[in-house]
Amino acid sequence: MSAGTKDHYAVLGVERTATEAEIKKAFRRKARECHPDVCSEHDAEERFKSVNEAYDVLSDPSKREMYDRYGTVDPRMGGGGRPDLGDVFGGFGMEDLFSVFFGGVARGASRRARTQGRDMAVQVMITLEEAAEGVDREIAVNRLVPCDECGATGSSDGSGTKECSECGGAGQRRTQQRTFLGVMQTVAPCERCSATGQLIESPCAECAGQGRVPDRDHVSVEIPAGIDDGMQIRMRGMGEAGFRGAAAGDLLVTVRVPPHEFLHREGSDLHARMSLTITEAALGAEMEVPGIDGDVTVTVPAGTQYGDQLSVRGAGMPRLRGSGRGDLFVHAAVEVPRKLTKEQREILGQLAGTFGEEPRATPLDRLKEWLTG
Ligand SMILES: [Zn+2]
Ligand SMILES: [Zn+2]
Repeated sequence: MSAGTKDHYAVLGVERTATEAEIKKAFRRKARECHPDVCSEHDAEERFKSVNEAYDVLSDPSKREMYDRYGTVDPRMGGGGRPDLGDVFGGFGMEDLFSVFFGGVARGASRRARTQGRDMAVQVMITLEEAAEGVDREIAVNRLVPCDECGATGSSDGSGTKECSECGGAGQRRTQQRTFLGVMQTVAPCERCSATGQLIESPCAECAGQGRVPDRDHVSVEIPAGIDDGMQIRMRGMGEAGFRGAAAGDLLVTVRVPPHEFLHREGSDLHARMSLTITEAALGAEMEVPGIDGDVTVTVPAGTQYGDQLSVRGAGMPRLRGSGRGDLFVHAAVEVPRKLTKEQREILGQLAGTFGEEPRATPLDRLKEWLTG
């Protein structure tokens, strides 16, 4: 029986009444079993082809209907016709096939995926002040850019392309290796034509037919106000140029904001520490606190305790999404003096008296008392 008249249902091991979902499931299972990269049996490739062919027909409602009615989908294949591997793969690379098996890539997207430029990643450092205001940055990027010389076509004279002689236009090459397990088949993208199946008739000297050349240039990035450490900006089409004018990749800019000297950020809020003397804390005071954009006046109420939190509305970071700003939280750090003058000791002693406290002997007093007995 020729490939064209195989029983596709038997190949996938499903009933003639199988649903689309059952067919898909059966295809994935069978394809995994007999994938030439994982199965070393001598007929793995042949079975793999049959499975693909069966799925190609049975997954397409109109092809399936025609097959059910006439036993073939292509009138020309009535006899001994046999699709070649290129047709069966339909432009898939092996990686693409695997991602299809495990739930990925749509058909037809693969050729574009192979010629499309890659995404590129860069980091940019900004200060917290810059994050609060927003800032424009120039970043130097080493990447492949479209070749000016040939207008990214890869051709020196516009004579176009011809079929690749290495892979016969399939964009991929099969290699056979004889091992003690049998013949191993591998399919790899054709390097000669970068898996496109086409070779440039007269390649551009500047880019050797690639349509893109390495370059170092500057990209201007607009960093929005409110951005936080670790956030990423995706600049569409600013990554690596595609092969011969294919779509460029994206540039992913990761913004880093190192810790600030005295402001700590949490979301859109800022936190700061404020040192207070015991008298400022006890009596209350107007304090200047350095904020993200200049000093902020904070009213400290009388009787403020260590760790009390005072909030200044709208003195935080701008919100990236939505409007307005977060708040500034000022944490009171009351500092007890480590050294006192004689006068200060006397005053604090009197103060203690007013609180009804017994004047307590200091350890030094007790030592003196003991020495003088
Ligand atoms: Zn060129
Ligand atoms: Zn080729």
